[in-house]
Amino acid sequence: MSIKEVIMMQQSSSFSDSSKLQDLFESGTRKDFVAEVRQAMRQILAKLQVEDHYEQVISEIKREPGYRDLNNTWEKLEPAVRRQKWQELMERLVQLAYATRPYCLRCGECCRQGSPSLHHEDLELLDHDLISIRQIYTLRQGEPVKFNIEGRLGFLPGELIKIKEDPESRNCIFLVRENNNCTIYHHRPLQCRVQACWDPEKLEKLYHQKKLTRRHLLREDQPLLELLEAHNERCSFEKLDSAFKKFHETGDEKAIDQVLDILRQDMVFRDFVKTKLDRDEEELDFLLGRPLMELVRAYGVRVEKDENNVYHLVSEQ
Ligand code: SF4
Ligand code: SF4
Repeated sequence: MSIKEVIMMQQSSSFSDSSKLQDLFESGTRKDFVAEVRQAMRQILAKLQVEDHYEQVISEIKREPGYRDLNNTWEKLEPAVRRQKWQELMERLVQLAYATRPYCLRCGECCRQGSPSLHHEDLELLDHDLISIRQIYTLRQGEPVKFNIEGRLGFLPGELIKIKEDPESRNCIFLVRENNNCTIYHHRPLQCRVQACWDPEKLEKLYHQKKLTRRHLLREDQPLLELLEAHNERCSFEKLDSAFKKFHETGDEKAIDQVLDILRQDMVFRDFVKTKLDRDEEELDFLLGRPLMELVRAYGVRVEKDENNVYHLVSEQ
């Protein structure tokens, strides 16, 4: 069971009798609070199959400022505040309990949160065809993305290569949903080997390391690299973003024409690479990044074609 699942179970009160918890928040004494913490901890440790770590976790929780503060002020707090602080304490308790079991349970939870980015150390996986370029895609510089570690939306400062994800679930394509197995486990990328949900610092350090780019993978194909540079230049996210900004600020319809022109150019490049360079459709998301026709949805619009084959942007709001 993953840390996230334990936290969710704990929060849904399936660990503790919810009416008992309600009584605790409404009229429980400090002594009741301490007893309930111990009870919740026993249940969490049982879920993680580490019941014998009780003494270790109890001594750690006693050192936590959140626990000490709650223990000292419990009887002065309003029920709503008690509930809020109790939930925060339970989350911390799950983390502490989990940290006493510092090895991967292979639950697949991290593989369901999205796929890994590739680093220089992963180059040999592609050179030896353990991962094919049909199984990866490019996030181009400037692309609007969600930064997982920081949890914010923003524009990508530099190019990234990632393993493809299932379009519906966002699971990494190598995850076998039925049994949480990774089909390339013995040759999984560096990020997956470093991933340790009980110790997020390891992944945070990797986050700042240099990533693999198309230039590293296509190093022997200079003409193709030049073509990709031309695509980057003509279909840049910077241009797309500035056209959208101009439209929002001024309402100038010409800005929409600029957006559509960038989208058309992206389609022309894709068609050229496929038909003239005879590259497989499945390689395009690596060679040129994902189609801009799809990515404009990040700006709250979608593209529609009318009966005369003319493209229009339609607001999704
Ligand atoms: S590292 Fe990933 S697979 Fe391993 S226990 Fe944590 S969430 Fe599960
Ligand atoms: S490559 Fe394997 S370990 Fe890495 S995210 Fe995908 S399924 Fe998980």
